[in-house]
Amino acid sequence: MTNDSVLNNGLKMPWLGFGVFQIDDGGSVEGAVRTALDVGYRSIDTAAIYKNEAGVGQAIKDSGIAREDIFLTTKVWNDAQRDNSVAQAFEDSLERLGTDYVDLYLVHWPVANCYEATWKEMEKIYQSGRAKAIGVSNFQIHHLKDILATAEVVPAVNQVEFHPRLRQPELMKFCKDNKIQLEAWSPLMQGHLGEESEIVALAEKYGKSPAQIILRWDIQHEVVTIPKSATPSRIAENAQVFDFELSQDDMAVLDALDQGKRFGPDPDTFDF
Ligand code: NDP
Repeated sequence: MTNDSVLNNGLKMPWLGFGVFQIDDGGSVEGAVRTALDVGYRSIDTAAIYKNEAGVGQAIKDSGIAREDIFLTTKVWNDAQRDNSVAQAFEDSLERLGTDYVDLYLVHWPVANCYEATWKEMEKIYQSGRAKAIGVSNFQIHHLKDILATAEVVPAVNQVEFHPRLRQPELMKFCKDNKIQLEAWSPLMQGHLGEESEIVALAEKYGKSPAQIILRWDIQHEVVTIPKSATPSRIAENAQVFDFELSQDDMAVLDALDQGKRFGPDPDTFDF
């Protein structure tokens, strides 16, 4: 397996990226992103609502790495969908990021009565060339069907909560069948890593950490994954997932941990 997924429009997206939710803007996020870039990550996942796009952009600039060598994702927040200002929200994100394009622009949540119109705005942004790919986040199958019914551009990515306790096999199959790349948020179960004895046992068997076992499971399932850490040693640890392979039996052990359990909000009942 190569280090990149090829999205439905031919754009390459690294299987492993760095998530920056809940890392403060300024020095904190700049330090974390610099550490991530230094240890080899080339994909960063932020969002307007994380309020740290400026720091992410600064860290990328300071790294000296060419912009085109970094895959940058941000997302449009729900208020912009509700007040029909998606185009302006995109401009604002670009300005904060200090860049003239993003690699991937996502609809953060399927806001009821809005997301279909939002997708039309996303298509215009894509056609402008300033988002190299567009996609969605937290979309269930029925949300995807709604936009696919009239879409001119099929979402390249669906970023959803995905980890051993929430495997979403039907959604995974639907995305695969429709050439939508599935991407895992909260892949590390928001830090609840050592609670499953099966994961700990596999970590011992492979001489890896529980986090590395889960991230490898994502990648072998062809799911893009974006672990977050504010701890330099963990940022480095989470990137060491391309030097081993889980057997099919051990993949099945992890698959069997699925409980349909969410740590985050449910896309059908969220209230923000
Ligand atoms: P994760 O599942 O990535 O877990 C992060 C937590 O795990 C932190 O507490 C971190 O601690 C800890 N951790 C990280 N690495 C290790 C390790 N190797 N060993 C032990 N603990 C570890 O949670 P997130 O919710 O942050 O999800 C990842 C990313 O997904 C976000 O940053 C964001 O980019 C995206 N996301 C998107 C959402 C959406 O709606 N589209 C929703 C939520 C997240 P510490 O930082 O202290 O090291």
